[in-house]
Amino acid sequence: MIIPIRCFACGKPIAQEWPAFKEAMKKGGDLKKALDKAGLKRQCCRAVFMGHIDAIDVISKYKRG
Ligand SMILES: [Zn+2]
Repeated sequence: MIIPIRCFACGKPIAQEWPAFKEAMKKGGDLKKALDKAGLKRQCCRAVFMGHIDAIDVISKYKRG
């Protein structure tokens, strides 16, 4: 699906940093540096970014009807 707007655990808005983070990782950037640059200091917010996979384009092929 899409990245959650806020962190599940602490509620900090994080979605605005996702496109830049994804771009940095696509260029083969360092994960730690990319997370630091996105301003994610807490482990809960960092875990949301590390565990996320954009699956909306895959899932939307199988809609009902
Ligand atoms: Zn958090």
